[in-house]
Amino acid sequence: MTVLAVADHRRGQLRDVSYELVTAGRELADALDGDLHVAVISGNVDAFAEDLSLDGVDAIHTVDHGEEFNHDVYLQAVEALDAEIDPTVVLMPNSVNGLDYAPAVASALDLPLVSDAVALEWDDGLTATREMYASKVETTVDVDADRVAVTIRGGEWGPTEEHGDPTIEPFDLAVDESRVRSRVTGFEEVAGGDVDISDADVLVSVGRGIEEEENIALVEELADALGATLSSSRPIVDNGWLPKNRQVGQSGKVVTPEVYLAIGISGAVQHVAGMKGSETIVAINTDPNAPIFDIADYGIVGDLFDVVPALIEQFE
Ligand SMILES: Cc1cc2nc3c(=O)[nH]c(=O)nc-3n(C[C@H](O)[C@H](O)[C@H](O)COP(=O)(O)OP(=O)(O)OC[C@H]3O[C@@H](n4cnc5c(N)ncnc54)[C@H](O)[C@@H]3O)c2cc1C
Repeated sequence: MTVLAVADHRRGQLRDVSYELVTAGRELADALDGDLHVAVISGNVDAFAEDLSLDGVDAIHTVDHGEEFNHDVYLQAVEALDAEIDPTVVLMPNSVNGLDYAPAVASALDLPLVSDAVALEWDDGLTATREMYASKVETTVDVDADRVAVTIRGGEWGPTEEHGDPTIEPFDLAVDESRVRSRVTGFEEVAGGDVDISDADVLVSVGRGIEEEENIALVEELADALGATLSSSRPIVDNGWLPKNRQVGQSGKVVTPEVYLAIGISGAVQHVAGMKGSETIVAINTDPNAPIFDIADYGIVGDLFDVVPALIEQFE
C-alpha cells in the first residue's frame, strides 16, 4: 500500500508544508505497512527532488511541467500518477494551491476528501482529526472507504529534515492541453508583500495592547534588536496599522517560528489557531488571566510600555 504526497511550492521555493507532508505521509505509510511516494510537479523538479530526498521517502516522481502551479496540470498529473501507483491515500497540502486542486482530484478519482486535517491515523481505514468553529471544537472523522484524499493543515506536523535515499523517477506526463484552461500570468505583491511571516524564525507580534499606531515603532525596535520579524493580531491589521500579510491567525497566516513573542495579545482562539505550533511562546500582558498565558512557555505579567524598553536595552 502506498501513500502519495504532493509537494507544494511557490515562486521557485518549496513551501514548508512539503516537508510536513513527508512526516505525515511517512506516519501513514508506516501504519499501512507501505511506501511513501512524493510527487513534485514543477519546472524546477531536479532541485525540489533533491531537497525532498528525505528520510522515509521511498520514491519521488518528478513531473517536469511549468514553473508555477497550474490547477489543470496538477489535476492531470495526480490523476496519471494515481493510475500508475494506485495509492491508498493521496496527501495534499491545505494551502492556497492544495485547496484549489484537491477537491478536483478527489472528484476525478471518485475519492472521499478530508480537508484541513490536523491529525491522521490508519486502522482498518482513515481516522482524521479536524478543527471546527474557529478551533473551539475538534471532530473525529472516520472514513469508510478503501482509498481517500486528504489535505493537511500546515504547521501541525514537524518537518522531516534528515536526508534519505529515495529513487527519483521522472514521470512523463502527456498533458492534454485542451484541458488546461487557466494560466498564471504574473504575480503582484500586496504592500509589504516582501515579508513572509511564515518563513521567520523569530516573530515579535503586537496586539491591541499597543493602544496607538505610533506605539508600534516601539515593538518594531524590539524586533530589530532581536533580528526578528514583526507580525500582529487582527485588530492591528483591521485598524490599518500593519498590512494584512503580517496578520497571524485563523484569517491570517499560520506560523511556526522557533520563538513567538506575543505583546499585548489576549490569545483569542482565532489568534492561537495561527501560532500554537510555535516552538517557544513568550507572552507579555498586564492581565494574569489572559488566555495567551495558557499556551505560553514563558509569561511576563506586566505593562508592555515598561517591559519592551527593558528588553530592547538588554538585547541591544
Ligand atoms: C471569523 C474570525 C476570524 C478571526 N481571525 C483572526 C485572526 O486571524 N487573527 C487574530 O489575531 N484575530 C482574529 N480574530 C479576532 C479575535 O477574535 C480577537 O478579537 C483578536 O485576536 C484580539 O486581538 P488582540 O489580542 O490584539 O486584542 P485584545 O483581545 O483586545 O487583547 C489585548 C490584550 O492586550 C493586553 N494589554 C492591554 N494593555 C496592555 C499593556 N499596556 N501591556 C501589556 N498588555 C496589555 C490586554 O490585557 C489584552 O489581553 C478573528 C475573529 C473572527 C470572528
